[in-house]
Amino acid sequence: MSSNKTFYITTPIYYVNDVPHVGSSSTTIAADVVARFKRLQGRKLLFATGTDENAIKVAEAAQERGQTAQQFVDSIVPTWIETWKRLNITYDDFVRTTESRHRKVTEAVFRKLTEQGDIYKDVYKGWYCVSDETFFRESEVVGGLCPNAECRKPVRWVEEENYFFRLSAYADRLLQHIEEHPDFLGPEFRKNEVVSFIKAGLRDSCITRAAYGWGIPVPDDPEKVIYVWFDALLNYLTVAGYLSDDEKLAEVWPPGVQLMGKDIFVRFHSTLWPAMLMALGLPLPEKLFGHGFWTTEGEKMSKSKGNVFSPVTVAEDLARISGAEFDVAVDAIRYFLMREVTFGLDGDFSMGGLAGRFNADLANDLGNLLNRTLPLLHRYRNGIVPKPDASDPEVKVLESLVTSTADEVADYMDRLQFSEALGAIWTLVGAANRFIEHQAPWKLAKDESCAARLDAVLYAALETVRATAILIQPFMPSVSEIIWGQLGIEEPAAKQTWTDAGTWGKLKPGTQTREPKPIFPRIDMRTITQPPQKEEQVEQISFDEFKKMELRVGTVKSADRVPGADKLLQLTVDLGTEERPVVAGIAQWYSPEDLVGRQIVVVTNLAPATIRGVESRGMLLAADVNGTAVLLQPDKEVPTGSGVR
Ligand SMILES: [Zn+2]
Repeated sequence: MSSNKTFYITTPIYYVNDVPHVGSSSTTIAADVVARFKRLQGRKLLFATGTDENAIKVAEAAQERGQTAQQFVDSIVPTWIETWKRLNITYDDFVRTTESRHRKVTEAVFRKLTEQGDIYKDVYKGWYCVSDETFFRESEVVGGLCPNAECRKPVRWVEEENYFFRLSAYADRLLQHIEEHPDFLGPEFRKNEVVSFIKAGLRDSCITRAAYGWGIPVPDDPEKVIYVWFDALLNYLTVAGYLSDDEKLAEVWPPGVQLMGKDIFVRFHSTLWPAMLMALGLPLPEKLFGHGFWTTEGEKMSKSKGNVFSPVTVAEDLARISGAEFDVAVDAIRYFLMREVTFGLDGDFSMGGLAGRFNADLANDLGNLLNRTLPLLHRYRNGIVPKPDASDPEVKVLESLVTSTADEVADYMDRLQFSEALGAIWTLVGAANRFIEHQAPWKLAKDESCAARLDAVLYAALETVRATAILIQPFMPSVSEIIWGQLGIEEPAAKQTWTDAGTWGKLKPGTQTREPKPIFPRIDMRTITQPPQKEEQVEQISFDEFKKMELRVGTVKSADRVPGADKLLQLTVDLGTEERPVVAGIAQWYSPEDLVGRQIVVVTNLAPATIRGVESRGMLLAADVNGTAVLLQPDKEVPTGSGVR
């Protein structure tokens, strides 16, 4: 493959009615990481993403809101575009399947395949799930419900004349292609799923539906619209200039990498899509990759659970709790999603996990390297890059590590092993930290005879920082830019190449570096024991104010309902030195007999109050769990009246 050819990379086009979340962001970020890496290698690039807008669900959702389908999709698309902008996604083309350029391609493909006999008309009888936009066999549907375990919605019986794509005719050629091109499908275990799926027998695909006022009509048969999946897959050809720009097509086709989730890998991207391309006489993509899913806080993402994290909100939260800049927080999310699991497997996203990596990998490892190099340079050499003695053998160790790391990372990147690539970069960062620790420039600085050695050590550390700034650029473009700025290198970061990353000695002696500023403020992990909530800031109090509150452990002597108040209990609490009446609003969750003899925590110096005619001199403490009270009590029994602090 000539490297003059444009490298074409795609994300799936996202279903317009979804909201951008951690999962879709992870796909798009992965594509952006590859795109930025290829650009660093000097490749020309076409990076495309977009929205899938022709589904029946779209028309139905629009109707519910009293909008036309077009108004509805037009109102949602900006959210997608804005999200990608804020995550620093450098796509070249954003394709919408409602655009006329796409409709033209879809119609032309339909005509061409009909003329050559790959599309034919027949009666379709079977079940259809609107939610999944998928036809199911009679045998797959039990009790009238969708067989997709994640869906289980009622399916519709469809019996209508439709158009079919002759998918079955391509089964053998598909298997042959997969066998002859070991890199075509990834990861490996998903390739095996595809092979089994094809070997189980491919049926021809029903690729039209009765027209419902939305979607791309079948050419010369407006009673029908083209099945949303057949139409959606063609977006990749629309972007490539198929039938509109032959020169562009020749330059970009076939795609270098196409990324998608595992749910749309086997059935659509690894069988229907390549068969369509074979029918059109076009080369197949070099690589189709089906990645895993993200759960959040250990649970499957779903709107009803309220755990569908918007990546922009997460970045805002992270910036708030860490004090880092928003773009640094975005980079931390990009880092986390690419580092946390081997690309292709399922992962779990949580604020705790994100903050943990932020502290350990960014604030500690990378942050320490930065905080030890530039400030030392400023302290001992006025911030000016020294001229090193090139022959120092200990410095040579770091030099060869930088060179080999750049090669190693490039290999991982070509195989979409992002986590492993970052692991290799962090091995370099760790080695540089140990180098500084071992060489102890702060000791060398005390001895005038060690001046040359101090120069060599400082230079080697700075050179590693420079290389690291380029190596992390695909993953953390903003952080890379900030480091570059602090190094004071005249040539902009954007002009650097992957070769520069692996070439030792690019940092010019005499360069005046800038005042170093820490990039990753450490997160106080106590601030994220639970997912951050969008609430107003809690007012802070001083220790002296806290000390004014008197808390003691009491034992409940008696408990009775308060007549006429079904939420209140009237307690007598022994505080060791005295017994007090306390009224508590816990009758919905605790019965009086549950409480007698139990130790509780009481605020004892709250001003007395009369509640429903009953005196109360104290307040007991309970955890508020979504409005349910759960009483606090000591871990083990303690003397009644013990103070709490
Ligand atoms: Zn379904």
